[in-house]
Parts: sequence; structure tokens; C-alpha cells
Amino acid sequence: MQIAILAVQGAFIEHRKKLEGLGVSCVELRKKEDLQKSFDGLILPGGESTVQGKLIKELDLYGGLKKRIQAGMPVLATCAGLILLAEELVNDEHVYFGTLPVRVKRNAYGRQLGSFHTVQEMKGIGKVPMTFIRAPYIEEAGEGVEVLAAVNNRIVAVRYGVQFGMSFHPELDENNRIHEAFLNMIGK
Ligand code: GLN
Repeated sequence: MQIAILAVQGAFIEHRKKLEGLGVSCVELRKKEDLQKSFDGLILPGGESTVQGKLIKELDLYGGLKKRIQAGMPVLATCAGLILLAEELVNDEHVYFGTLPVRVKRNAYGRQLGSFHTVQEMKGIGKVPMTFIRAPYIEEAGEGVEVLAAVNNRIVAVRYGVQFGMSFHPELDENNRIHEAFLNMIGK
């Protein structure tokens, strides 16, 4: 199995380390030609969605990636990655891939709670640590979207078919269960 990680900006190295620690090889996507490599799943990391969104278009990765996702490529999208996947953004006029039917609010926790850590239950996985950094949350989940976790009544993790979107950064904590669940799903 090989997993591709969008590596134009943000926390892609942390995802890579996590996956390699689990014995999975990775390819980093930085340019159009990288899409020729074979991969079975895609990670959209955290970072700055406006910068990533601009770069994927400038580097001509956008169309090819969107096609793959629409064709059923499993995706694990964290934080800014969730913003790239969302069908609608509340406080941003952009839509990037728009393949995940959720309405997402960027920088949703305001200044005081801009970054925080908690441990919460995630459906099908159990308790997991969750690190939020200037995180978005999901204001509304559309039809067919399964809510996997909520913190203070705000949705922070969802699954829609083979697309997983979460507001926090599972790559920054020691716990591997979210990455393992993603890999297990691909393996089946
Ligand atoms: N605030 C960032 C954005 O709006 C997301 C933060 C993150 O990925 N940690 O894109």
C-alpha cells in the first residue's frame, strides 16, 4: 500500500512520519507529475487552506486530484485539508475540491480558544487525543455524512463514504488509531 500526501504547505511531514512509523510508504505530491505515481489513499494535511488552495491550482494539481477524489480515492483530510474538501465555507467565498457535503467555518474558535487540546470519543475508534490549532468546525453535515465526533456540540470529525474530514491534527499526537483506521479501511 502506498499513501500520497499533499506536500505543498503545512503539516505534511508529521503525517509522513506517522505513516512510515506504521510501516506504510508515502509519496509526496508537489507537482503535476507526482500524480503519475501509484497510490491507494490521499492525505490532505493541516496548514493554511488559502495558501494550499492557491498552490494546488498554480502547481496544476487541482484537476487531477479532484478527479481522483470524485472517482473514489480514500481521503483523510485534517484541519486545512477539511476546508479544502468542504462543499461550503461559511466565512470564505472559496470552494476548493468541494467533494464533502459539509458546511465548514474557518478559524471557528476565535482568538482565546484558537488552540486547545482535548480527549474525546470518536465513533468506531474510542477515545482519542485531539489537538486543535486555529481550527475549523463543521456547522452542518449534509445527507449521507456520518458524524464521528463532536466537542462541545460542535462537529469535529465526519465520514462520507471513503472521505474522512476532521478539524483537529491526529498527526501531532502519539496515538495512531485514526491513521490505522484509515489504513484499515483502504486495506479492506
Ligand atoms: N486556520 C487554518 C485555515 O483556515 C487551518 C488551521 C490548521 O490547519 N491548523 O486554513
